[in-house]
Amino acid sequence: MKIFFRLLSALFILTPLVAPSVSTQPALASGESRTARHFDSIKTRPLLLAAFLREMPKGGDLHNHLSGAIYAESFIKWGAEADACLDTATMSAIPCRAGTISMKDVVANPVIYRAVIDAWSMRNYELSGQSGHDHFFDTFGKFGYAGNDRAGDMLAEAVGLAARDNVLYLELMMTPDEGRVAGLGRKIGWNSDFATMRNRLLAEGLRDSLKVAVSGLNRWEGRMRELLNCSGAGGGEGCDIPVRYLYQVGRGLAPEMVFAQILAGFEMAELDPRFVGFNLVMPEDYPVPIRDFTLHMEIINFLRPLYKKAHISLHAGELAPGLVPPDELCCHIRQSVELGHAERIGHGVDVAYEDDPFGLLKLMADRNVMVEICLTSNEVILGVTGQHHSLHLYQAHGVPTALATDDEGVSRIDLTHEFVKAVRDHGLSYLDLKAMARTSLEHSFLPGKSIWSDAKSFTLVPECSGNTLGSAKQTPSCKAYLEANEKARLQWELEKRFGEFEGGS
Ligand SMILES: [Zn+2]
Repeated sequence: MKIFFRLLSALFILTPLVAPSVSTQPALASGESRTARHFDSIKTRPLLLAAFLREMPKGGDLHNHLSGAIYAESFIKWGAEADACLDTATMSAIPCRAGTISMKDVVANPVIYRAVIDAWSMRNYELSGQSGHDHFFDTFGKFGYAGNDRAGDMLAEAVGLAARDNVLYLELMMTPDEGRVAGLGRKIGWNSDFATMRNRLLAEGLRDSLKVAVSGLNRWEGRMRELLNCSGAGGGEGCDIPVRYLYQVGRGLAPEMVFAQILAGFEMAELDPRFVGFNLVMPEDYPVPIRDFTLHMEIINFLRPLYKKAHISLHAGELAPGLVPPDELCCHIRQSVELGHAERIGHGVDVAYEDDPFGLLKLMADRNVMVEICLTSNEVILGVTGQHHSLHLYQAHGVPTALATDDEGVSRIDLTHEFVKAVRDHGLSYLDLKAMARTSLEHSFLPGKSIWSDAKSFTLVPECSGNTLGSAKQTPSCKAYLEANEKARLQWELEKRFGEFEGGS
């Protein structure tokens, strides 16, 4: 926060902003308005804006694929350490065989090294000869092998990025069972009777596969803490960031495998509180997700009443005119909300092209469904940006929104970059960004109640009303409320950081 304090002090010396009458205002509100004025003075100056927004507290990153969060340089290093090789025809990491080159040689050769970074990320994708969409989705198959057994290292990298960005919370998407659950689905095969499918998967040991996944996660988190130096004096950077997981279902797989993974998403949340829900991933425009979209929603609709704990966030509307035939734009977001019980929607870019778009926006606002807004991802994959992006529609119609990274390593961004982009491409104000940071924690899947009785006007719950937001000492009722509710505790911490950032406490 040092940079901002310096900027703010300079502003105070030059401009006496606090008139005597303002001193009767609550300190935090005055800090907030001073900060908003400072923001307005720098919002067209990219470097000052970036420095300011990096220090700004950002709530949670709720749409973040763990493997996509990793920068290509790390995959190259891990590939070299694992004695993997590069197939130069496909630019993919693979086991060594004739005609491949060692990843160690890739590290030693700057010309190949830079080509691998370009192939494994969106750097210079305009020169690749591929569309952004194709280049993006192809990266995962290229670097995947180099990331084998490095999930703990990936966690440390994602958390490290969050820490340097003043992000307070991460919900990471991953498939922790290393293909076992999809394999069970393949083994039992498809049956259109969902109850029979579920019974057979459970009888075949789906829960045992998930227990193995839990021990894997324990190991990975141990490795993450080691890399972040969490047991050292004072704890390492990022060790205090709570991380939760969403079980990642591959919607492009065969129906029996998708069924098994959706079931695993529900089961995992019952088994381990670190898993707070699930999400369906893979390109929404691929043939299988297009063909089976409604079927997947029906599977979720069938399983939902059988489970209490799992939350649901669904990629939907990561589409644009021309990417698919017009009919395919009809209804993925609506089906995800109505049939798929989505509490959050990932992307939601094509909402204006769905049937009855304004009815859908009203439905989302009424049901308080939040949209995870991934601006860079939408620009590079779909070519959608500025006024063509649906962000302003959601905000105009009262649908909650929060900024998220999607795949910060592949896109070579971070959450600060997305905040900058929201200002420069969409004209968002400081208060808009602050509202989105608060909204991200409000709609996180952390357990417990919120500090807000109304999360649109940011009105405190009765237990905490009268307390200064984020203050270290609270009234007994507020203290008890925060102790009882993990979500509220983190929201209080966000308010504390806003107080520090705005210099108002
Ligand atoms: Zn995504």
